[in-house]
Amino acid sequence: MSVSQLARAIATSPTMKLNEEARLLRERGEPVIHLGIGEPKNKAPIPAILGAAAKLQTGDIKYSPTDGTPSLKKAIIRYTEENYDRVVGPENVIVSSGAKQSIFNLLYAILNPQDEVIILAPYWVSYPEMVKMLYGVPVIVTSEDGTFYPRMADIERAVTGYTKAVIINSPNNPSGVIFPDEFIAQIVEFCEGKNIYCIMDDIYHKLVFDGRRTPSCFRFTRKDPENTKVIAINGIAKLYGMTGFRIGWAIAPRQLVEIMTNVQSQTTSCASVLLQAAAEGALLGIQGIVDNLRLHCQNNRDVVMAELATLPGVKCTKPQGTFYCLPDFRAYLHPAVATDSLQLSEFLLKKAMVVTVPGREFGFEGHLRLSYAGGVKDLQEGIARIKWAIDPTSPNDIFIGDRKLLRDWL
Ligand code: PMP
Repeated sequence: MSVSQLARAIATSPTMKLNEEARLLRERGEPVIHLGIGEPKNKAPIPAILGAAAKLQTGDIKYSPTDGTPSLKKAIIRYTEENYDRVVGPENVIVSSGAKQSIFNLLYAILNPQDEVIILAPYWVSYPEMVKMLYGVPVIVTSEDGTFYPRMADIERAVTGYTKAVIINSPNNPSGVIFPDEFIAQIVEFCEGKNIYCIMDDIYHKLVFDGRRTPSCFRFTRKDPENTKVIAINGIAKLYGMTGFRIGWAIAPRQLVEIMTNVQSQTTSCASVLLQAAAEGALLGIQGIVDNLRLHCQNNRDVVMAELATLPGVKCTKPQGTFYCLPDFRAYLHPAVATDSLQLSEFLLKKAMVVTVPGREFGFEGHLRLSYAGGVKDLQEGIARIKWAIDPTSPNDIFIGDRKLLRDWL
């Protein structure tokens, strides 16, 4: 088949691939536990459902303005004022079909071929692929000390005359860490000094634990909304567990929003009015669900940390937000099990029916990303199965579903 070299070079989303494998196994009746998936199991908030239902009942479902319905934009402006302490106008907001599309539109708007984008490892899998889709060059920065916290010096070393942007995601998918305020302050100052865009992917900014708060990225800019290099990306997917509604947005200077609007007008035209109505309902409704989700994830974080502590040699930085952690499994990488994270993930799916995501996909080999968005029982059983599969000191038989299995590979 004839396809472009560029399209061929784009990796399959590993999480989508794993979801599909797990779905097929489940269809065959296998007792799969999914610790790979990145979405909470809650139902959509009632005001979101009512908002969409009211719109649907009018029967008037047409195109919206490309940059979003005025009423949703108004709700986003209010959200930005309340949560970022930043007054912006409708001309600074563009709504898209998910934060993923917002980031893509933004990168499309700012990158020339060969321009470089600095991405901090561990990173969300889509950033490098999106940059490559635009003929840009992803420049991966890994902290020199091997932690999940790159330093300013690590970033400064990676900057060249081609650097167009740095992407920051805090709280971070996949590690769950929150970058310190001073780090965000330094990076904003550095980017604005060098005229580099500072893209803040804030999609998890309310999913933070232990009473923490993430700082508003705009707090550190010295520039007004029309001249800042700081662009905030957000959406309803993680805020309200509304992943399937596909609404995200960007807050950016007017000129950039205009270009992003042109880009969007030539691709998807606009996000669905129905789903925009749902997003508006969620943003304007009571916000109890955000706290519920946060507490659910925080509780699950504690469970996952306690269960992982039973695996000798596995080290895990305690997440401060999101619903992911990225434990280090290097102590278990040996020929009897697996020699890299991809093999380990495949091994765990085959032997223990547990879905994980290989750390390699996030630029952190030797690690596995575990999602704790689901139920406590799955978490406990999932990690018990992992322990059985790789830890020779654990009992060598286990029940998986109604089958008793014996471990004969260690
Ligand atoms: N950024 C990060 C870091 C994410 O993890 C995700 C979703 N997994 C997104 C952006 C995309 O969000 P949306 O579903 O709104 O496209």
